[in-house]
Amino acid sequence: RPREELDAVDSVCPYCGVGCALTYYVDRSRGAIAFAEGRDQPGSKGRLCVKGRYGWDYAASPQRLTVPLIRVDSSYPKGPLSADVRGDGDRERGRRGGKLSKNGKDGRRKPGGLVDYDEVLPHFREATWEEALDLVARRLMEIHAEQGPGAIAGFGSAKCSNEEAYLFQKLIRAGFGTNNIDHCTRLCHASSVAALFEGVGSGAVSTTYGDVANADVVIITGSNPTANHPVASSFFKQARRRGTKIIYVDPRASTVSEHADYHCQVKPGTDVAFYNSVMHEVIRLGLIDLEFIKARVSNFEELVRTVNDYPPERGAQITGVDADLIRQVARVWGEAEAGVIYWGMGISQHTTGTDNARCLIAMCSITGNVGRPGTGLHPLRGQNNVQGASDAGLIPMFYPDYQGVDLDATRRRFEEAWGVQLDPNRGLTVTEIIGSVLKPGGVRGMYMLGENPFLSDPNTNKVRKALSQLEFLVVQDIFMTETAEFADVILPASSYLEKDGSYTNTDRRVQLGRKVMDPPGQARVDWEIVQDIARRIGLDWSYASPSEVFDEMVALMPSYRNLRHDNLGLTGKLYPNADPEHSDGTVVLFDERFNTDDGLAHLVPAQWLPAKELPDADYPLVLNTGRLLEHWHTGSMTRRSFALDTISPIAEVYMHPKDAADRGLAHGQMARVRSRRGVIELQVRISHREQLGNCFIPFHFREAAANLLTIDEIDPHGKIPEFKFCAIQVEAA
Ligand code: SF4
Repeated sequence: RPREELDAVDSVCPYCGVGCALTYYVDRSRGAIAFAEGRDQPGSKGRLCVKGRYGWDYAASPQRLTVPLIRVDSSYPKGPLSADVRGDGDRERGRRGGKLSKNGKDGRRKPGGLVDYDEVLPHFREATWEEALDLVARRLMEIHAEQGPGAIAGFGSAKCSNEEAYLFQKLIRAGFGTNNIDHCTRLCHASSVAALFEGVGSGAVSTTYGDVANADVVIITGSNPTANHPVASSFFKQARRRGTKIIYVDPRASTVSEHADYHCQVKPGTDVAFYNSVMHEVIRLGLIDLEFIKARVSNFEELVRTVNDYPPERGAQITGVDADLIRQVARVWGEAEAGVIYWGMGISQHTTGTDNARCLIAMCSITGNVGRPGTGLHPLRGQNNVQGASDAGLIPMFYPDYQGVDLDATRRRFEEAWGVQLDPNRGLTVTEIIGSVLKPGGVRGMYMLGENPFLSDPNTNKVRKALSQLEFLVVQDIFMTETAEFADVILPASSYLEKDGSYTNTDRRVQLGRKVMDPPGQARVDWEIVQDIARRIGLDWSYASPSEVFDEMVALMPSYRNLRHDNLGLTGKLYPNADPEHSDGTVVLFDERFNTDDGLAHLVPAQWLPAKELPDADYPLVLNTGRLLEHWHTGSMTRRSFALDTISPIAEVYMHPKDAADRGLAHGQMARVRSRRGVIELQVRISHREQLGNCFIPFHFREAAANLLTIDEIDPHGKIPEFKFCAIQVEAA
């Protein structure tokens, strides 16, 4: 149909933290989206990557959950049983439990490796909403009454809007009396946030990715933005063409390294040693900003003592980067007038993730690279609303806007606002909750809203054990995910296309997502489901709309002051924002003081520590996990998107040519990958982007679930798992 006959709905992309603005063109006669187009907005300027442009048809998948389901067969083992996700390498035993799901009944290929509905559905029966919601409220309250508030926990999701995230954490805190509430930020940038809070008093970015245009030099580290933040990456490459120097620090090569002036291909897990060496040289050459340090930085002397131990030769020995390259990078960074550091999960997803980020804060602070245009600290957020969900309080130690649950005055303010008594203790994180389920007196009842920890959390067989042991699990989602296969009750929810709400991107930009279509069948909007459960457990909630929820949030969140749904406009607003009617908001933070109590940046020097599980004779290779351009997290959405699944349909292990040759493996051959925790089978991809001795596996693929291999050791501060480093062996399958 011609464009004029289509209905245009302005919204935002649901995938990465860039949060591109887009317009869906809807053919109402077919009840379907015809196409999506980028929309002008200061952060995305009309650009979209392949996910934003084509990755929306999953919402119309015939596999959507459309009716509440209640488990009927409690004797049947919970969770996925197919060989592909057992992880014990016993394909025959797996087949007895459940067949692989490559082909549908009509013989046509199903999207690769997804849940086999024919296998799973017989163990559930359809229910009315009344029956399902009554059961959820009754069982969770029984566990609460018998075993106390600490026996309940909730996993929210960064796929949810700000309003849904706010209501979900309020339900768990005000309704069940516990702070055991968290979401996928724990798997993403929790360590960056821990370091930023400690160092500069705020977990959000200090400048936008568009501010790269004002920088003389940028460091992009632990990130492959071309795959993970594609539109932000286009701004980086554009800046490079205008003369901004790019220093790329990453164990893998990528298209970013092809555009970079310097590529420091560090060995995995050696970031602290690398940045300590760079700072050693910056200080030795006198390229620090002494005035800035005197006025605005504390603990500089301690940093100097620490980095003294890391001359470039020692840095080179640990990191594998040539000492002269370390010296060159130090000079370029130290001499720049304005520099920004952008980082990704190659920095955060380590047991030393907080230390890694502490080094980046020190790199900017000692050179005065904070608080001016073209300077600053920017952890590139993974999911489109991981910033907003964290801001809204979906984390166990903070109420909305990072106000500590253990601060008496803060707690009293929230108790007054919500009309209940609140738990004064910090709750458990995602990674701690899974461990707690396996202990006596731990978590027994869980409410999962939009999370799929069976595939997203480390050490899948440990997660399997924990989810199987829960007394009661309710999953609210749009598909039968692998985690939903463990559920006692499944509530059919809405995709972002089926509701209104606000989302906050990596730049602190709060934007409106608008409803494009109705949810299918009896599926319902998430905030209404949460409200119905709240009412059943005795909370007096009567929100009429997401904008009413947003107004309550803003009243409790100083950072969001002055924002309302009706002043966000078509392009959203950055926070903080003194005058949203006339201003886009604040790009650069900390121009006069940091957000810490004394207004200073607090440097915390770090010593380099090796990863927790080093390669040895049995497991001689290092595994790094991550994402592909075409897919998203556990694949429940993108693997049901025709275009994305067609471009990237199979799981592969990326190997250095010599590592593959040493094992007699050719490109496209099936390989068996083992760690101490599990085994998977997938195709070999010979990749010149890997270092010798290192492999990369994306974690999107159920049939070769990378997290069967990963280690569940966590960073002691951010409690984030070490997704970027464990020991494996690869052999022919
Ligand atoms: Fe969506 Fe990110 Fe791609 Fe933009 S860059 S279209 S937000 S996935």
